[in-house]
Amino acid sequence: MHEVPRVRFAPSPTGYFHVGGARTALFNWLFAKRFGGVFVLRIEDTDEARNSPEWIDGICSALEWLKITWDEGPFLQSERLDLYAEAAQSLFRSGKAYYCDCQRSEIDERVRSAGLPPGYDGFCRDRGLQSATGRALRFKVPKEGETVVDDLVRGKVAFENRTIDDFILIKGNGAPLFVLANVVDDLDMRISHVIRAEEHLPTTPKAILVYQALGQNAPQFAHVPVLVNEKRQKLSKRRDRVAVEDYKEMGFLPAAMENYLVLLGWSPGDDREFLTRQDELDLFSLDRVGHSPSFFDVTKMLHFNKHYLSLLSSEELLQTALPFLEATDFWDGTPDQRSSFLKLAPEISTRIGLVSEIPGMVDFIFKSQLSIDESAFNSVTTDSNSKKLLERSIEVFSGLEIFGSSELESACRAWAEESGLSLRKLQAPIRVAITGKKVGPPLFSAMEVLGRETSLSRLSDLASRLS
Ligand code: GLU
Repeated sequence: MHEVPRVRFAPSPTGYFHVGGARTALFNWLFAKRFGGVFVLRIEDTDEARNSPEWIDGICSALEWLKITWDEGPFLQSERLDLYAEAAQSLFRSGKAYYCDCQRSEIDERVRSAGLPPGYDGFCRDRGLQSATGRALRFKVPKEGETVVDDLVRGKVAFENRTIDDFILIKGNGAPLFVLANVVDDLDMRISHVIRAEEHLPTTPKAILVYQALGQNAPQFAHVPVLVNEKRQKLSKRRDRVAVEDYKEMGFLPAAMENYLVLLGWSPGDDREFLTRQDELDLFSLDRVGHSPSFFDVTKMLHFNKHYLSLLSSEELLQTALPFLEATDFWDGTPDQRSSFLKLAPEISTRIGLVSEIPGMVDFIFKSQLSIDESAFNSVTTDSNSKKLLERSIEVFSGLEIFGSSELESACRAWAEESGLSLRKLQAPIRVAITGKKVGPPLFSAMEVLGRETSLSRLSDLASRLS
């Protein structure tokens, strides 16, 4: 590659940030950064009905969360309308575009009675109308020949010009349409590569025709495959969970999401699953982006999340968990709480799939009043031995000089041997008394963190509740 790439990511505000958009942004970013290029962020906010400053902030924060940084922008198309109007005028003056005063219903009626395929019939093409309120500006598509999109992913895709309508550049109300605004911006921003979702491939010949009419070369296009659900349907907000914000809230790590997303449609060339950002930067190329739709599989993404959680240091786990802990009523972030958390962190990070599971795993340490899950409580009451086991455990543990996890474990093992019961069986009611749940972090570490006094009083509390 000779030139330094200049790419742009051009999301439309929708009120949430789509995982497909995140994937497109990531591909753009990796492509730019791999080749020392520039990533431009441009917001397509020309649709007034679907626009608000919070939505734009939402896009920026989601990108920041994913550590996808932009070198230029964010540029707002709504602030660049003059540029589009100027380009439209130059196309009109050079005879490449014409004004049209047809109403939709008139067009439909004419097309139907002439038995033509749906679309515009070119009625105003040679009428020589001048600009006036309510008149749209249409592009005069050549009647012959073909327009070829030489796509970096899909190869050469040819479109016959006679199948392309004289499309609208500027609506009757003065609003520019997608194709014009993007061509003008891509030229103005000297964009070299347009990497975007496959759904935009059909409008690409229109863009190429506009570039040619303006006497300019089109950038290189790369259309990346759509994301689909398990039924092979295109992901949609109505049916599927598509917002990056939702996954953040559920407790996915940005690194896990990034690693999962980069593999949707792209492959490093071998069967490696886990890639650091540096690996991605070293390996990313558009020629290994495939053609077929990619299944966005949340279960698979969870597998990536588990892996990335297990790599976190205790301090990193705490930092990651903080927003979730701070939303509870038991966390006040005192040094004591932090140090208890840090002690248990190594046990937690390998046992969870989502960061949001952390509060429920550690609440027993911090709540002054332990609440016992109903199912956990029932498992204890249905075993007639529970009360005896709990009472015996108090005797066993009270005698310990050091209340540490290995001492607690040895004592339990000796007790298991002498009583002929399995360690698992002995631990079951103790775990419920200590943590209020049937599963959680390793029992003995939990007891060490909780300390002698609280642990023993929890054991006797549960014992006294059993008849
Ligand atoms: N705004 C379009 C979208 O959100 C992207 C258009 C483009 O990249 O050219 O899908």
